[in-house]
Amino acid sequence: MSADKYYTLAEGCPFASSSTAVLMRNRQGTGGLGLLQDTQLIETLAHFSRERIPERVVHAKAIGAYGVFEAEADCSDITSASFLNKAGKKSPVLLRVSTVGPESGSADTSRDVHGWGMKIYTDEGNLDWVFNNTPVFFIRDPIKFPSMNRSHKRHPRSHLPDANMFWDFHVGNPEGIHQLLVLFSDRGTPRSVRFLNSYSGHTYKFTKEDGSFKYIKIHMKTQQGVKNFTREEATKIAGEDPDYMIRDMFEAIERKEYPSWDVFVQVMEPSEAETYRWNIFDMTKVWPHKDFPLRKIGKMTLNQNPNNYFADIEQASFSPSTMVPGFSASADPVLQARLFAYPDAARYRLGVNYQQLPTNAAKVPVYCPFERDGKMRFDGNYGGDPNYVNSSLQPTKYYPEVKGVSPQSLALHTEHEKWVGEVSTYTSHITDDDFVQPAELWDILGREPGHQERVIENLVGSVREVKSPNLRNEVYALFGRVNQDLGAKLKQATEAAIGK
Ligand code: NDP
Repeated sequence: MSADKYYTLAEGCPFASSSTAVLMRNRQGTGGLGLLQDTQLIETLAHFSRERIPERVVHAKAIGAYGVFEAEADCSDITSASFLNKAGKKSPVLLRVSTVGPESGSADTSRDVHGWGMKIYTDEGNLDWVFNNTPVFFIRDPIKFPSMNRSHKRHPRSHLPDANMFWDFHVGNPEGIHQLLVLFSDRGTPRSVRFLNSYSGHTYKFTKEDGSFKYIKIHMKTQQGVKNFTREEATKIAGEDPDYMIRDMFEAIERKEYPSWDVFVQVMEPSEAETYRWNIFDMTKVWPHKDFPLRKIGKMTLNQNPNNYFADIEQASFSPSTMVPGFSASADPVLQARLFAYPDAARYRLGVNYQQLPTNAAKVPVYCPFERDGKMRFDGNYGGDPNYVNSSLQPTKYYPEVKGVSPQSLALHTEHEKWVGEVSTYTSHITDDDFVQPAELWDILGREPGHQERVIENLVGSVREVKSPNLRNEVYALFGRVNQDLGAKLKQATEAAIGK
C-alpha cells in the first residue's frame, strides 16, 4: 500500500476509523443504540451480504493463473490467425482449471473431468479455448447436457451425491462409455493441474482469408508429464487438503517453477471428413493419431499467479464463441449449443457488460457501439456515436479501410460457414461402433501394469453404491460391450464387495 493512501468510505469520504460503529451512548458509556445515519456500518453490512455472485452451476471449484502462448512456427499455411503467423510470436494468456460437478468449496482431487478455460489475448481480439482434460465427452446431443450434469451432482431429495442416479443416467445414455472409461482410469484423479493434458474435444476449423478451411482438433500436452493419484491417494488428500491442486500450482508458480504445455493440432481436409470412418462432429470419438498425426503449433507457459482471485479468476468468463479471425466453430451440435450457453451463463452470473471486466477485456481497442447501456456499464458507452447501424452522418469504419488491406480481410468467421452437410448426419442412436474406441483404450490401459485392475477397483467403489441389482447388471453389461472380461470382472468384484 502506497504511503499516500488513506482509508475512505466507498464514496470517497475520508473516515477516522473503519472499525467503530456510530452509537448513541448509554449513560454508563458502555454501549448504546445504533443509528441509521451510520453509513459506514450499513454499507459494510449490506456489501457483505452481496459479496457472492452466483456460483457457476458447473466448473465452480477452480484455480487460475496468467501466462504466455508462444507460436512454434508460422502456421499461415493452415490458418490466418494472427497469433499463429510467426514463429516466436507471444500472446498473453489466462488459464482457469476446474472440476465440473462439485461446488466451489469441494475437494479438488475428487474423481471428475477437469475443465480448462483458457483466454488468449491476441492482437486481433480474444480467443477462448474451453477444453477438458479428456479428449471425448459423455454426450453428443446438447439437450442432454443439463441432465447429465444433474446426475453427477446432488440428489434432489437427499442432497447427497448419488451413485444410483449417476449410473441410471449413464446406462440410459450409453454413448458416454468412452468418457466413463477415461474418468475411471487413473486420469480421473490427476495429481495436479501441472500434470494433466487438455483437449479441444470438439472439432473446430482453422480458416484462411481465401475462404478455405481445415478441420482441426487441439491437444495440449503437459511438459511436466502426465501424473495421477490412485483412488486411495486422492481420497486421503481430499480429507487432508481439499485445496491440494490449488496449493500445488500456486506454490509452484510462486517458486518460479513455471508449468508449460506443448500445443498441437490434428488437421483434416473437409473432403477427408466426408468419407472418414468416424463422424467428426460426434464428440464421443477421437481422431486416431495414426490417421491424423499431431502437428506442433505452440507452447503455453504459466508464469504469474492472480493478483486477486475474485477479480482475475472468479470474474473471468470463457466461451467457445469468443473467437478470432482464422479460428471458427464446426457443426458439432454440442459445440453449437455451447456457443449460446456459455455467454448466456456469463450474462446471468456477471451481467450483460461482462466483456468489460478487466480480466475479460481484450487487450486491443474494442469498438462495438451497437451494444450499449446495460447494467454496470463502466466505460464511456461510446459517447454520442450512433447507436444504430448504417449511419451516413457518422459512418462506421471497418478493418480493411483502417488497416489499408484488401476487403477480403473482412472474411472473418461468417465467410467460412460452408459446412459439409454429408458428414453431419447425426444421431444419438447407439451402435457397436460406439464401443470400438473404448475397446482400444481398454487395450492401451492394459499396456501399463495394474492400470486395468485399478479401473475395475475405481468402478467398484462407485457401482457398489447402486442399490438396484437390475441397474448394476446393466452397468456390467455396458462395460461388457467394451470388453467381455472387463464386464465379467467388474460384476464379480462389485458383487463380492457388496456381499462383504
Ligand atoms: P495411440 O495408440 O496413438 O496413443 C495412445 C493414446 O492413449 C495416447 O493418445 C494417450 O493420450 C492415450 N491414453 C493413455 N492413457 C489414457 C487414459 N488413461 N485416458 C485417456 N487416454 C489415455 O492412440 P489412438 O489415437 O490410436 O487412439 C486410441 C485411444 O486412445 C482412443 O480410442 C482414445 O481412447 C485414446 N486417446 C486418443 C486420443 C486421440 O486424439 N487420438 C487422445 C487421447 C486419448 P495422450 O497422448 O494424449 O497422453
